[in-house]
Amino acid sequence: MPAKPARPKRPDHGTVAAPRRAARLMPAAQAEAFIRALATTNPAPQSELLYHDTFTLLVAVVLSAQTTDAAVNRCTPALFAAAPTPAAMAALGAEGIGPYIRTIGLWQGKAKNVAALARDLVDKHGGQVPGDREALEALPGVGRKTANVVLNIAFGQNTMAVDTHIFRLGNRCGLAPGKTPREVEERLVKRCPPDLLRDAHHWLILHGRYICKARAPECWRCVARAFCNYRDKVLAPPL
Ligand code: SF4
Repeated sequence: MPAKPARPKRPDHGTVAAPRRAARLMPAAQAEAFIRALATTNPAPQSELLYHDTFTLLVAVVLSAQTTDAAVNRCTPALFAAAPTPAAMAALGAEGIGPYIRTIGLWQGKAKNVAALARDLVDKHGGQVPGDREALEALPGVGRKTANVVLNIAFGQNTMAVDTHIFRLGNRCGLAPGKTPREVEERLVKRCPPDLLRDAHHWLILHGRYICKARAPECWRCVARAFCNYRDKVLAPPL
């Protein structure tokens, strides 16, 4: 029987795309060290979305689905100036909202949702954003991830909003492998030290967005590298 060909050496530099393979689950102490390492880089993390109160935060998060925060931030100052309250946004209506947000993905559906959620806030919640999950998720265009962001930032709850960056990161590095965002969320909530949980979603989103990128993670400048179980780390920048 012919001998099997030798396995190619794993890339250790940035010139070869790293294969995507699931990492083994980190032990709890390693998971904590990983998150604490990220925390050192940004002790007071903030959302990158522009907003000025709970209502405008909710609208910005709804608009950010499948779109970058930067794209949303280019639209929202003018939109929020025109309609700073739920009553004003409901009065503007989908047709009035649309022209402000035409440059972001799925803008037509989002315009309808923002108008409808503003109307619901006026009709059912006295013009206030509710602070409980069930009521938030009943609003048009608001799913679990959006509710988690609002509950975390505006209401101080220890929620974990799993977006595409956190889902990738949780699986790639072994922090919280899971087949669905909900699985990753539940694992992260269990594994994050309680004192870090509220800020952890910011650290993980920012880490996924700027360092542990989808195509090629920039492991050479990752502060949590020593605690990461990803087997194909990219240890030098592309030439
Ligand atoms: S070492 Fe690389 S793969 Fe692991 S978390 Fe850091 S950037 Fe991501």
